[in-house]
Amino acid sequence: MWETIVETFEIPEEARPFIEVYLTDTDVKAIELMGAGSYLPEDLFRLLKPIVEDPQAYTQDAYSRGIFNKTAELGEIGYKVGTFAKCITYLAQYDPEAWKKIPAEVREKIDVWYVNKYAEEAKPRLEESLRNPSKLIENAFFYTLEETLALIDRQEQEEFCVFPCNCKALALKCEGRKPSNVCLGFHYKSINSDYDRGHGKLITKEEAKALVRMANKNGLMQTTETEWGICNCCGCCCYPIRSSQQIGAKGLWPKKIYDIVWDEEACIRCGKCARICNFGAFTQDAEKRISFDREKCWGCTICMNNCPKGAISIVKAQ
Ligand code: SF4
Ligand code: SF4
Ligand code: SF4
Repeated sequence: MWETIVETFEIPEEARPFIEVYLTDTDVKAIELMGAGSYLPEDLFRLLKPIVEDPQAYTQDAYSRGIFNKTAELGEIGYKVGTFAKCITYLAQYDPEAWKKIPAEVREKIDVWYVNKYAEEAKPRLEESLRNPSKLIENAFFYTLEETLALIDRQEQEEFCVFPCNCKALALKCEGRKPSNVCLGFHYKSINSDYDRGHGKLITKEEAKALVRMANKNGLMQTTETEWGICNCCGCCCYPIRSSQQIGAKGLWPKKIYDIVWDEEACIRCGKCARICNFGAFTQDAEKRISFDREKCWGCTICMNNCPKGAISIVKAQ
């Protein structure tokens, strides 16, 4: 039975000794019963009846925790077993105290496993993108604050969904230092979305814009997926950025649009750019001298918005 659970739920070795943190006894029985199959709701409820009193309520709960996913494979919406990768992010996002029951050193190993998994999955897309530059590794770009606000304005709907960033919740590297309730969905109602699973909070267009301004001010970078919504990322937790670093895809993922121009004459050496940059591209030494290392810059543009003297501007990247 154990092998079936590990295989069906794709549990990495690091996480296996802590199964009781993310799976209940009922989850384990349900995963074993369901295996790799897809089920229409009524069939699933019948299958689960011997192990739970209220299969419908249990299914909804298991779906909200990422133990089950929805699927359209059967022509209408049904369910199948989810994966550890998804369930553990939901645990970290929506039950952080439970996530912290796993010892810190094991959480770190799971974090590394996550980055490696992300990086491995992206490698073929990087190779394709290098062969054909019009092919993106992912539909993700660094947008300026102004572009991000304009993108929100262009959306027809008045409601947006905000939910906790799964990278920050899982990695916890900037916990308490940077805002984490910052993922902003435009098209948030699809199956298997946080919203469909019963999470997230709906906010207005003005609140969405205020959220992005606040994120930018607090050193989070606007990586925008034009179809899905807006991510407000840090450099320390973000799995796409860390994976991109790992496979050498800087500049391509998230796609850099701008290069930075630093006007040394206008700079008053306040050090704000050095404090806000996620990659150490701007630095300040003990004599308060500022340096800019273009090689380290990802082109996120948040230093431009946060420079009090307008000493940082942007030009289109080549
Ligand atoms: S991509 Fe960025 S905002 Fe989105 S979940 Fe990861 S760190 Fe958070
Ligand atoms: S934020 Fe602007 S003024 Fe301050 S040190 Fe950086 S470039 Fe200079
Ligand atoms: S120096 Fe580059 S990476 Fe750092 S904040 Fe500015 S644009 Fe972003």
